Amino acid sequence: MVAAREALERLVVDVPDFPEPGVVFKDITPLLADHQGLTAVVEAIAEAGRDADGNPVVDKVVGMEARGFIIAAPVALALGAGFVPVRKAGKLPRGAHAVSYALEYGEATLELHHDAVSAGERVLLVDDVLATGGTVRAARELVEACGATPVGVAVLMELGFLGGRDVIGDLPVHSIAVI
Ligand code: AMP
Repeated sequence: MVAAREALERLVVDVPDFPEPGVVFKDITPLLADHQGLTAVVEAIAEAGRDADGNPVVDKVVGMEARGFIIAAPVALALGAGFVPVRKAGKLPRGAHAVSYALEYGEATLELHHDAVSAGERVLLVDDVLATGGTVRAARELVEACGATPVGVAVLMELGFLGGRDVIGDLPVHSIAVI
């Protein structure tokens, strides 16, 4: 966890006023390009899917489009679990649940294939940044619409001042760094 936190501090670049004035965008591309940094954050996020003895406790790792995909897929491999994408509207080719939500900047709809997760499966939700919490809340609702059980949320960075945790509900939130 210390290595992951150091990697975030060293390799994530703050970009002021992107994509619009007033937003400080957390650019993780330099972190993704650094083998040690990427390894450290993937290992730290995977810890959220293990019990106290280090055994994996999830069947699926759900990643949110688009940067959530990049983290969630190697986390799924580390946990011996499957990877499932939650996608923006109109991208999934088969029948899907849909939930609309508010972003820190703008509004969007997320979708999940009806059969992407099954009733009774345990699911870890993964994204790069937790901001207002709308994205994770929508993903939680999508997973629950399939009858599966979200067991936790894991993110690289949490923008604590936006109060996203309160929007998500009673799920445990694992953040490598709270900003
Ligand atoms: P929210 O729904 O407000 O919690 O926003 C989270 C989603 O928007 C995540 O998928 C992030 O990738 C993206 N996001 C929101 N704020 C930022 C930010 N300041 N920097 C980078 N990504 C962000």
